[in-house]
Order: sequence, then structure tokens, then C-alpha cells
Amino acid sequence: MAKAPTTNEAHDTTTPSTAVPRYDQTFPTLTDKDIERLRRFGAVRRFADGEHLLEAGKLSPGMFVLLSGHVIVTQRDGMGHVTPLVEEGPGQFIGEVGQLTNRPAFVDATAEGNVECLVIPPDGIRTLLVAEADLGERIMRAMILRRVSLIQSGLSGPVLIGPATESDVIRLQGFLTRNGYPHHLVDPTSDADAADLIARYAGRDLPLVVCPDGSVLCNPHEVELAHRLGLVGRSAGQTLYDVAVVGGGPAGLSTAVYAASEGLSVIVLDARAFGGQAGASARIENYLGFPTGITGQALAGRAFVQAQKFGAEMMIPSEVKTLDCSRADGAFGLLLDCGNRVRARSVVVASGARYRRPTIENLSTFEGRGVWYWASPIEARLVASQEVVLVGGGNSAGQAAVFLSGHASKVRMMVRGTGLAASMSRYLIDRIANTENIELMTQTEIVALEGQPGLERVRWRDRKTGTETTGAIHNVFLFVGADPATGWLDGCGVNLDRTGFVVTGAPLDSYQGRRVPALESSVPGVFAVGDVRAGSVKRVGGAIGEGAQVVAALHGFLADAAHPSL
Ligand SMILES: Cc1cc2nc3c(=O)[nH]c(=O)nc-3n(C[C@H](O)[C@H](O)[C@H](O)COP(=O)(O)OP(=O)(O)OC[C@H]3O[C@@H](n4cnc5c(N)ncnc54)[C@H](O)[C@@H]3O)c2cc1C
Repeated sequence: MAKAPTTNEAHDTTTPSTAVPRYDQTFPTLTDKDIERLRRFGAVRRFADGEHLLEAGKLSPGMFVLLSGHVIVTQRDGMGHVTPLVEEGPGQFIGEVGQLTNRPAFVDATAEGNVECLVIPPDGIRTLLVAEADLGERIMRAMILRRVSLIQSGLSGPVLIGPATESDVIRLQGFLTRNGYPHHLVDPTSDADAADLIARYAGRDLPLVVCPDGSVLCNPHEVELAHRLGLVGRSAGQTLYDVAVVGGGPAGLSTAVYAASEGLSVIVLDARAFGGQAGASARIENYLGFPTGITGQALAGRAFVQAQKFGAEMMIPSEVKTLDCSRADGAFGLLLDCGNRVRARSVVVASGARYRRPTIENLSTFEGRGVWYWASPIEARLVASQEVVLVGGGNSAGQAAVFLSGHASKVRMMVRGTGLAASMSRYLIDRIANTENIELMTQTEIVALEGQPGLERVRWRDRKTGTETTGAIHNVFLFVGADPATGWLDGCGVNLDRTGFVVTGAPLDSYQGRRVPALESSVPGVFAVGDVRAGSVKRVGGAIGEGAQVVAALHGFLADAAHPSL
């Protein structure tokens, strides 16, 4: 770890940003009556002129409601670039969604003259959001809009330094984007400060990541970066949770929202990011209530904040390696990749599915260097005006083809079968047929990938004629299905079907004479929801419904476990 140069710390607060959309909702002024209602959730503190209420990269004590005086809020990235954001006065408050869970601040907030404010700690904020419906809604909306504006401004959070097309840059950018974490990318070829920093780190792995606290990481793993940024929740330690939810996709987030809102203590663990497969969806058009569609990231981002509002604790990224169902000490034990152990009275398996990797020569060589398993705006930028190949005939393949067709010059959509009718929704088939730059190539398969170091050529075969063709293609998108992510359940006694999905709701009433709930596995107290469950519908709506449904069964199990003789 090292400190980034601080020579660039120009502090100009004279021209506050006016580029904040929906300004009044983002920076609302609370009335005296509102503030009276807030007093019971916090304590009054005073700050002298020039004192920091918040510092970027450091833990924040909560939200600050200004009672008197003014506070200047500025954005600062790890390179020392400071940008004025807003000046707040009496009745306004400082805080964004990170303060719901005691995460580090993205901004500096400095007292301008003497300041008196009400400091509301994270648990107080969560209580007020639930207890004060109207006021809570205004505060929550402002917090979400502030996070969105921090992401869009690209002026706070860590700075990634490296060429935009480099695979590790894309990996880290994708990770931060999927976690809704403000950051920005600086290309050393066009930014002198960045080039200077890279020169100082000559011989070290790129990209560099300059964190808001000034420390510099060289091509970090996602988990290392997350810990440095304070993204991962506090260590579970000795806490015994009512429910541990494994997977932060739609099923896991839904379980967390319903379980936490009904008073259960919940921890959610996800190996990568919240949102799961749905987070990779450019547009979900069949989710109830969104007639114009919604991106998977937007839907999941809302659920993520909602779960935290009800008190669910998030440990993301944290991969569960094994589940110990022996309950030797009275609880299930979940061993994490960092070596920590989480204890819970019950477990909800919501680990969904992992992208299938077809057998193509050299596939692993090009993963992250031209072979992609999702299509987000980051990959779309890479394929601008290029020809791409997309493999797959399901709905996710169809959505990705339509999305990429708006960026690439041509999308060659390859399927092994004779058409799409058996595997894709009608509306997507029609849309593909009506998109000029998508060419559907049936009975076609990729046979080889070539290039050095990145992907340069793709060879494919027409299965009808056996003819092989080689095309100058630099990006291939694979949407060939997914396998259940259940390896971590090995050896714990949970029954899987022959394809690896968790079997639930056994017809036998075998557990202490009790009816086995529909979503409970063969191990009492271990439940499964969403795509990972045998027989589930593999849709966002289905996953969310099961998350809501499992909570009644959790209550039943926890009540029986607490009073076994009743
Ligand atoms: C590109 C794409 C587009 C789609 N479009 C639509 C659509 O338009 N409409 C629709 O209804 N459905 C759509 N789907 C399907 C939908 O996304 C899934 O049905 C849904 O996401 C399933 O939710 P889930 O929570 O069960 O699992 P997932 O979304 O798969 O989430 C599982 C989570 O568990 C985590 N995990 C796995 N193993 C572990 C472990 N050991 N430890 C910790 N965490 C772990 C993963 O990181 C992941 O985040 C689409 C899918 C894709 C890929």
C-alpha cells in the first residue's frame, strides 16, 4: 500500500455543481416539525469552523441534520481532485445510502462557521425510515438520488488507472458497477497525472486503483478491493443470525427484504455482487409493474437498499465455501472464502446458477479478453461499430443480441438448433427478426478462437454442410445456459436432483412428524429459493415470489426450534 501524490489538491468551493438532476428531491429542506420528529433518533453535536463532519474514505457516524450554520460538501477522488458539490444549510441533511450501514463516506463535509446538527447513527436512520413513513420516504429518496448522482458524476470513489480496453480494467470496472459503487476510469494516455503515477509504479501490475484514502492497489482481486473500500459489511463475528441467505440475486434479496421486515435477523452473502444473473440483464421487460421494462441493475439496486433499510446485513463479496449442517454448537456454520465463519439458526440457499462454459478450443485463454458471459454498457463500449458473435438461443441471449445491436455494426447470432421458437419468448424472436444488423445463423457452432494476446479471429462451422468459415471477430458473447451453484453444499446432506438443483418439499412427512414446507430441503432448517431450486421457473418474478414465500416457513421452523416440545 502507498499514498497517491497529493500535489493536486486544489480546493475550489466557489462554484457548486449545478448539474445535479432533481435538485429539490436530492437536497430537500426539512421543516421545523420534521426536525422535531427526528430528534428522538439522534443526538445534537457541534462543529467549529473548518472542522470535518465527514471525510471521504473514512467511516461516517451516520447522517447529519443541520440545525444551524452551513456545511460545504465536496467530492474528492483518490488523486486529490476536489470538486464542489453543494452547500447545505439549516433544515438540510448530509448522508447517502452508505450511511444506512456505516460504510465510508464518498464526500468531504466541512463546517463553514459554527455548526449545530443532529447526528443520527445508522441504526437510528433505519428505525426512522420504517417508523416515519412520509418523512422516511423523502429521506430515502434523497439518499438514493445522491448515490446515483455520485455514480453519474464520476468524481468520487476510487480511480482506476489503465487503458479502457484492458481486461483487468474491465473486470474491476464491472465489479464496481455491479455493486453500485461510484468510481471512474482515467486513461494514462490522455491524463498527465495518471501517466506520472504509472511511471512511479513501473514494473508493478496494472491497472492501478487509487482509493479515496490515498492508498494505491496494483491490479487487485475484487475481494481485496472491496475490503480496502469498506464495501464488505462488518465481520459477522460471534453473532448468531436467525437466517443466513446465500446469494444476493432476486431470490436472496427478496428473502432478505421479507425476513428482515418481519423482524428476523438476516445476513446476506454473495460471492460477487448483488443482483445475481438479473443484474446482468440489460432490460427485464416481463417483470410485473414495469411496462417499459427495467434494467436488472436498477431493480436489484432498489431491493439491495430496501433490504438494508429493514436491517439486513450485507457481506458482499463473500463466497460461502462450505455449509456445516451438523449443528454441533446448535447452529448452522457457513465457512467463507476469507476464513470467517457465519452462524445461523436457518439457511436459505439462493445461490442461483453459474454461466455454462461450452467446450471450445482456447476458451479459457480468451475469457475476459474477448469472450464475455454478459453484455453490459461496459462491453457495449468495447464493441462499438464492430462485428460480434453471440452464441445462444434463450431469452437472455435474445435480450443481449438486441442490446448489442444498438452498439455493434453487426451481431452474428449462432444457435445449434433449427430456430429460436422452442427456447425464446415470442416478443424477442419478433424483435430480432426486425433488427437489421442481427443475423440469425441456425445450425451453426463455434469451433475455434484464435489471436495473440486478445481474440482476433473466430472459426465457425455450418452443421448442415460442414463448411467452416473464419471471421475477424474480437468479441464473442456466450449465453448458453447455466448450471446450479450448489458445489458448496457438498457433504452437508442436502439432496440434489441429478442435474445438481436442490430438491425441496419432499413428499414424505419425515421430519419429526411435521409437514415439510414446499421450499424446505432434505435438511430441516435449510431452504432453497429461486433458480437453484429443482422445478423453479427460472424467472425474476418466480425468484422474488419464492423469497417472499419462504419467510412463513422460516418463522415456522424457528418457532419449532425454539419450542421443540410444543
Ligand atoms: C442476461 C440475462 C437476462 C435475463 N433476463 C430475464 C428477464 O428478462 N426476465 C426474467 O424473468 N428473467 C430473466 N433472466 C433470468 C433471471 O435473471 C433469473 O431467473 C434470476 O436472476 C434468478 O434469481 P436467483 O436469485 O435465484 O439467482 P441468481 O440471479 O443466479 O443469483 C445467485 C447469486 O448467488 C451468488 N452465489 C452463488 N454461489 C455462491 C456462494 N457459494 N457463496 C455466495 N454467493 C454465491 C451469485 O454470485 C449470484 O449473485 C435473465 C438472466 C440473464 C443471465
